[in-house]
Amino acid sequence: MRYVEHVADLVGNTPLVRLNHVVPTGPDAPLVLAKVEYFNPGGSVKDRIAEKMIDAAEASGELKPGGTIVEPTSGNTGIGLAIIAQQRGYHCIFVVPDKVSVAKQDALRAYGAEVVVCPAAVEPESPESYYSVSDRLARETEGGWKPNQYQNPANPASHVASTGPEIWEQTEGRITHFVAGVGTGGTISGTGHFLKDISDGRVKIVGADPVGSVYSGGDGRPYLVEGVGEDFWPSTYDRDICDEIVAVPDGESFHMTRRLAREEALLVGGSCGMAVCAAAEVAASAGPDDVIVVLLPDGGRGYLSTVFNDQWMSSYGFLAMDTGEWTVGDVLRRKDGSIP
Ligand code: PMP
Repeated sequence: MRYVEHVADLVGNTPLVRLNHVVPTGPDAPLVLAKVEYFNPGGSVKDRIAEKMIDAAEASGELKPGGTIVEPTSGNTGIGLAIIAQQRGYHCIFVVPDKVSVAKQDALRAYGAEVVVCPAAVEPESPESYYSVSDRLARETEGGWKPNQYQNPANPASHVASTGPEIWEQTEGRITHFVAGVGTGGTISGTGHFLKDISDGRVKIVGADPVGSVYSGGDGRPYLVEGVGEDFWPSTYDRDICDEIVAVPDGESFHMTRRLAREEALLVGGSCGMAVCAAAEVAASAGPDDVIVVLLPDGGRGYLSTVFNDQWMSSYGFLAMDTGEWTVGDVLRRKDGSIP
């Protein structure tokens, strides 16, 4: 019989899938492979960090048997933490701003977590903000522990331990470029360090970032793609890791996300489209011996009412991209060469 003891045992070892339509193809084109993280049991790359952050806190004694995990998270990290917490008998309290969809809150509750909703329209310093409330609950709850994915070194370390080695083995050391979006920076810093070290610096690390975010030189102005970009510099991001950072406009990210579903049968989230735009740009100037791996952090079910909804897309003026006014080559551009 072949089975695992617990669904948490299935974290990691996600597949590489070749992209055949949304990136340059032909005899001179590089091989572009997507690392599809929705195959993790919680549906995202964040299962990896949840497991390692909890392991480290158990080892250091910060998290004690029967303890309570308190984290401000609305999505993927919460699901990952909830899965490991359930396996190991911890309680979870997730603090979310009220702009987070009820469906996402319900998903966290479905795993047995408690969800505390705070107003989004207050300053981070306000005692009502979800940052302040999570700090207070972590302090006041007996056995409370806050993983803090933006400062926790186990976040990038989990990618040194799993994502990096997996990609190296799966490509038999032939990877030449690694492309990933930057949120906490854990994925790109951990995976990037592993791949740089093992290849003596040969593998190029390319960050993808929403236009407006600080990583690509923006001032932190708002953008719509979820889970990536920041308006501050978290300690989990190594500012020296990227050889290149590609800034991708929201419209391009979402259009590519829709193409991934339609043309590659990969129903994935908006930050995946963003990363693939950057990978397509890298591929356009790469050679036939190059092997580009682009990491796709999560699945698309959580984005059916946004990225995959025509009304939502057209309310931001993004839908015009589905008409013939646009080239659908390596990277989406207007026919006059400009980017939306
Ligand atoms: N995409 C999504 C959907 C995410 O939730 C995250 C995590 N914030 C990322 C990309 C970026 O990953 P990282 O935090 O490791 O930089």
